[in-house]
Amino acid sequence: MNAATSTPTQADDSVLRQLMNHAQLISQIRQDIDALAHEATDTVAGLIARLEDIESQSTTPGSAPTSWCWRSIGSNAADELWHLLTDWINWIRGRYPLARKIPPCWADHPELVEELTALWLAWQHAYEDRNAPLTAAADWHDRWLPGVLYRLEHGAFALDCANDHHPRPAAAYASPEPNGVAERTREGDSAHAD
Ligand SMILES: [Zn+2]
Repeated sequence: MNAATSTPTQADDSVLRQLMNHAQLISQIRQDIDALAHEATDTVAGLIARLEDIESQSTTPGSAPTSWCWRSIGSNAADELWHLLTDWINWIRGRYPLARKIPPCWADHPELVEELTALWLAWQHAYEDRNAPLTAAADWHDRWLPGVLYRLEHGAFALDCANDHHPRPAAAYASPEPNGVAERTREGDSAHAD
């Protein structure tokens, strides 16, 4: 053993110190990794929340039609509106015990299509509009849904289709005016007659 060579005890101490340094380093690295993992988890959770928020906002217009006026809607938009409305009505007839109160033939009753479109819009406002008051869903149950159900059972649009479809007499629906001008002219004439 030459002079440059450490004695076994010195060598052991040196190795021990190195091991201790490595252990401290590993411990520190572990702490850093844990901290980074927590930070990453928080970041990912935050990103997921933001994505869900964005997705929710972007799906709201997707599930909500951009136009819903059957009188003026274009054919493509009408197809989309019909698809969305049908999907929602299928849901509500099963979600609530409405399979008979909203009869399967609802689509054969234009006034019912209008009623249910309006009811659906109110539902979307209550459940999908983030700016809606928190009481909107309660209002929908307390006011809008019972209103439609009442009209279908007792009101002007009462149906007798719980078991079979009973179409209204064709004469119940006026023939459409040839154009809006004639309608306004007639109203003007009746106003003069009064
Ligand atoms: Zn019917």
